Amino acid sequence: MTRHTGRHFLQIPGPTNVPDRVLRAIDMPTIDHRGPEFAELGLHVLEGCKSIFRTKNPVVIYPSSGTGAWEAAIVNALSPGDKVLMAETGHFASQWRALAERFKLEVDMLAGDWRRGASPEQIEAKLSEDRSHRIKAVMVVHNETSTGATSRVADIRKAIDRAKHPALFMVDTISSLGSIAYEHDAWGVDVTVAGSQKGLMLPPGLGFNAVSDKALAAAKANTSNRSYWDWHEIIAANKGGSWPYTPATNMLYGLKEAIAMLHEEGLDNVFARHVRHAAAARAAVRGWNLEILCLEPREHSPILTAVVMPDGHDADHFRQVTLEHLDMSLGAGLSKLKGKIFRIGHLGHFNDLMLIGTLAGVEMGLHLASVPHRAGGVAAAMDVLKGNEASAAPVQRAASA
Ligand SMILES: *Cc1c(COP(=O)(O)O)cnc(C)c1O
Repeated sequence: MTRHTGRHFLQIPGPTNVPDRVLRAIDMPTIDHRGPEFAELGLHVLEGCKSIFRTKNPVVIYPSSGTGAWEAAIVNALSPGDKVLMAETGHFASQWRALAERFKLEVDMLAGDWRRGASPEQIEAKLSEDRSHRIKAVMVVHNETSTGATSRVADIRKAIDRAKHPALFMVDTISSLGSIAYEHDAWGVDVTVAGSQKGLMLPPGLGFNAVSDKALAAAKANTSNRSYWDWHEIIAANKGGSWPYTPATNMLYGLKEAIAMLHEEGLDNVFARHVRHAAAARAAVRGWNLEILCLEPREHSPILTAVVMPDGHDADHFRQVTLEHLDMSLGAGLSKLKGKIFRIGHLGHFNDLMLIGTLAGVEMGLHLASVPHRAGGVAAAMDVLKGNEASAAPVQRAASA
């Protein structure tokens, strides 16, 4: 093993770099989770989460990974045999589908090529055909972290409305929450699924469900088995700032700090920062004369860029060279994209020089691994950051979008 100095560059699209402020906030004595001091912390973070999900409704916080929050959405609001509509945007949509099938849901999966977001038109057509309203939920991944394509959630909501379909709308924001503009209430989402370790700048360990009144009513009427994930039990305990079981106390200290940091910067500024960094990252990829995986410009992810490896070159070998020589971790291609792409994470606790350092690492890595490319990607990215080039793909904004 090579000996490395200085900081490791963790440029995978989650887990992301945890700010020192959050690490220090977590580094506290664990307190009695049934005592008054904890209740104050609990109430504070539960309220704070609403401001990030942009909802007036409850946000349920689990000691779990994002996958747990996926399962929670399903076991609360759906029953075995229910039909759901999903869109094959990539690895994570496929994983959510596999989980849904283990709970005996009948999944109608809109086929996709893993190079774009979910199609509002296809969803509208499927729902319009479903006159008997057998489809109980539309489930989409907001930011498909395996491909770097961001689905247009507000447009999908409009598609569901145009079809006049009563299905629940469930959205996975595990990588996007806190880094891409998102509106749980204004976009009429019924269950928003999230996790702590990506846009929210925390270590792995918390899962979230933001739930609409309609989702709560569906859960109340749902007689299928659930216990640990049950929304109603947790929401009832949360009213007094506690949980029915031991919560992840120290992670909640970190969550409190991360929410404070997002508001200090201003959510709109956070989102604009990610859009700008993504534009610079794409300029670098074009500068290297390499291909961006996502084919739809208005769906380019603000938080990661997936790069297609030239034919005959293995992305995992390139990532290994970059890790060994430069101490930088880049995201791997997942499932069918293994070895074919690498992913540059540019989200969370991040700034211009971290981006340029990351891109310089990629450019050096391409050279060290003898991957055919043009030099000058970093210079193209710097031009964007200096403001010499019109930047930024449009990203869906707040309610008016
Ligand atoms: C990371 C991720 C998941 C899985 O979350 P875990 O915390 O690893 O369980 C699911 N969906 C998306 C979009 C993700 O980025």
